[in-house]
Amino acid sequence: MQVTGTRQREAWRRAEFPPVEKVTGGVWSVPVPIVGNPLRYVLTYLIEHDAGFVMIDPGWNHPDSWQALTAGMGECEIPLAAVTAVLVTHVHPDHHGQSGKVRELSGAWVGMHPAEDAFLELRGSTLMLRDNVAAYLRWCGAPPSHLDELAASRQHIAQAEPMVRADRLVEHGETIDVPGLRLRTVWTPGHTPGHLCFHDETHDVLLTGDHILPRITPNVSSYDMESNPLKDYLASLDALRGIQPREVLPAHEYRFTDLDSRLDDLAGHHRERLAEASEILGGAAPGGLTAWQVATGVTWSRPWSELASFQRQAAIGEVLSHLRYLQSQELAAESDRDGVGLWTPAGGPTFGG
Ligand SMILES: [Zn+2]
Repeated sequence: MQVTGTRQREAWRRAEFPPVEKVTGGVWSVPVPIVGNPLRYVLTYLIEHDAGFVMIDPGWNHPDSWQALTAGMGECEIPLAAVTAVLVTHVHPDHHGQSGKVRELSGAWVGMHPAEDAFLELRGSTLMLRDNVAAYLRWCGAPPSHLDELAASRQHIAQAEPMVRADRLVEHGETIDVPGLRLRTVWTPGHTPGHLCFHDETHDVLLTGDHILPRITPNVSSYDMESNPLKDYLASLDALRGIQPREVLPAHEYRFTDLDSRLDDLAGHHRERLAEASEILGGAAPGGLTAWQVATGVTWSRPWSELASFQRQAAIGEVLSHLRYLQSQELAAESDRDGVGLWTPAGGPTFGG
């Protein structure tokens, strides 16, 4: 992998805000701050077509973010009214938060994958979600105090404005309906169920959202008792092989090239995590371990005791996605004891060992 967004990386190293940049003729990148988040900013992209501009990932909904987006567009001499389509790679609020405001002021339509729109629909019914989360956390083996801590830390999110639903649903392999631009979708589930990458074939650049980032691995978490997002994620890495775009345009950090080597790194990271989870299960007592117990044994960037409740929640989700993947490969087994999931090795060889 080679970094092409060198000014962006310089800014990252100095903990400064990166510049607005013309990526290539007809493509601009505007950094939009994410208030209070270590990722610091989303890169909003604007791509010109024959009748205006497509905007991808308008950013976090906050007055400072709005100011940065509109000032950045001003620098590019792109009026808001010229935006005809807003596309989102996925509906996390740091990407999709401002879509409603852009739509309202420009008249643009908002497009996303159907699975993201379905998630927004579900998000509306918070009471149901809380019951589900409680049952899920019990099943993961989390202590009851964790749910209360988590609820307290999420209070501010519950009060946030609801995000807008899709005007148009965009499926895998579609060419976006804008004149004079070949913008094709690649469905890349894993980070979220409906994550999309956009291959701008006209400029030969690939917009990868959170699916592929140059420095960090995106969170791939299982937040229910059934899904296998890591299996999806690994398949979604393969879905990008062979495209070999001239440049990769991620939603955070900085631009880079040589996509395939980055795909190898990301797959390798998950293989290591799978081996570690497999080893922890292998060393467990015959009764098995809960996902929470496995998570406390995994190496994180900080000791488990120092992680905040939302970080522990992300950690459980990550561990569970790896356990679920091991199970799908018949390398781990799960059994239910009074609503608590217990994981054991499935008797086969230890993963990677
Ligand atoms: Zn995200």
